[in-house]
Amino acid sequence: MLSCGGHGTHAIGFHEGFAQACSVLERGSVKVDTAGISPPPTDACMLPAMTTIRMEKLAKRYGNVEAVRGIDLTIESGELFFLLGPSGCGKTTLLRMLAGFLEPTGGRLFFDDRDVTQLPANKRQAGMVFQSYALWPHMSVKQNVGYGLDIRKVSGADKERRVNTALETVQMGHLGDRRPNELSGGQQQRVALARALVVEPSVVLLDEPLSNLDARLRQSMRSEIRRICKEHGLTGVYVTHDQEEALSMADRIALLREGQIQQSGTPEMLYSRPNTRFTAEFLGETNLVDATIHAATGNGVELDTPLGRLSSTALPTDLPEAGNVTCSIRPESLRLIDQETSHSPAAAIVTGQVQERMFLGERCRLTISCGDAATPLHVLEIGAEAEKTRQNANVRMAIEPEDVVVLSD
Ligand code: ATP
Repeated sequence: MLSCGGHGTHAIGFHEGFAQACSVLERGSVKVDTAGISPPPTDACMLPAMTTIRMEKLAKRYGNVEAVRGIDLTIESGELFFLLGPSGCGKTTLLRMLAGFLEPTGGRLFFDDRDVTQLPANKRQAGMVFQSYALWPHMSVKQNVGYGLDIRKVSGADKERRVNTALETVQMGHLGDRRPNELSGGQQQRVALARALVVEPSVVLLDEPLSNLDARLRQSMRSEIRRICKEHGLTGVYVTHDQEEALSMADRIALLREGQIQQSGTPEMLYSRPNTRFTAEFLGETNLVDATIHAATGNGVELDTPLGRLSSTALPTDLPEAGNVTCSIRPESLRLIDQETSHSPAAAIVTGQVQERMFLGERCRLTISCGDAATPLHVLEIGAEAEKTRQNANVRMAIEPEDVVVLSD
């Protein structure tokens, strides 16, 4: 019988998940520590040495499926790094190679300067949190958390103290004697996190850890997981297909597509300066506008578009001198203005008519048809202008050059 929540497309099955979890937890065992890995710290409050993860042309092929295609990436020590992308893009495969559950078919993997490409899971300094939690149903919370220490031959007062510390960290100290089936989904998730932390890893790998929780709980666990990673100085690698989760939690994100990194950077950078349509559309809503390069300006270009002439200062490095391009304009960067509203002299003014107005609580979503544009613009407005705006109203919008992002595809 499973005590865990549901499974996603590539969730690891319960027994497999638990076996793998234990396998990772074993990595600090006195009997396996033969690969130059420093012995685990004995004091539960000690921060482990931080670890940098470096991938060199890391690849995984299943038969003729190229799941991960030569990834070069460095995740800095102490960083909370997200692997984001649609189903089947290779996130889980990449994470499982980091954990040591899958052997790469190409490339190399380093933890700091140590080549761990061939190192078994139980010898890596990594703790893993599974989507399915993978808790033993017949064991109490404390026993589940302590299991990894049993394998490491940590016992007695030391074990007790470390289990209690891990449970306190995830605010589960008061529920140590319960069985997993007496816990909510969120509490089970915390136990899974405590089990990864109790062995004091320097790297924590999280595979869609919040996907079985309801929306409200997911929100509160986001800051909780981030807090724990930061307080423990962990290098965290977190797999998700939820762009909001990635944007709100990550230090940096790699957006994957068909086994390759499409773009990586801080959440702000990926959101505000996407370099392709794929990134622009995957991370939040956007308006894609066809354009023809009209002329270069001092620090940008002028573009002819169905909305009229727009200026852009957000350009890709491979911008052609002439020809057709596509621009991304985020709905919240289109600003409704009236005669008195100020805007920069470089802003383009676009007129249109409101086709649809959708009230979303703190915001209003407007669909606006403009001039020759076949596709209406989506606009997100907060505040007075949105409240005044009604269906069929004629409106004016200001578009600033830095908000017109020219894409490289
Ligand atoms: P999801 O978000 O749905 O979990 P993902 O991004 O984690 O997807 P992976 O599970 O890494 O994607 O799969 C990447 C590709 O490799 C997919 O095309 C998948 O069908 C394929 N794949 C994964 N595991 C295997 C396997 N054991 N044998 C063959 N193909 C596999």
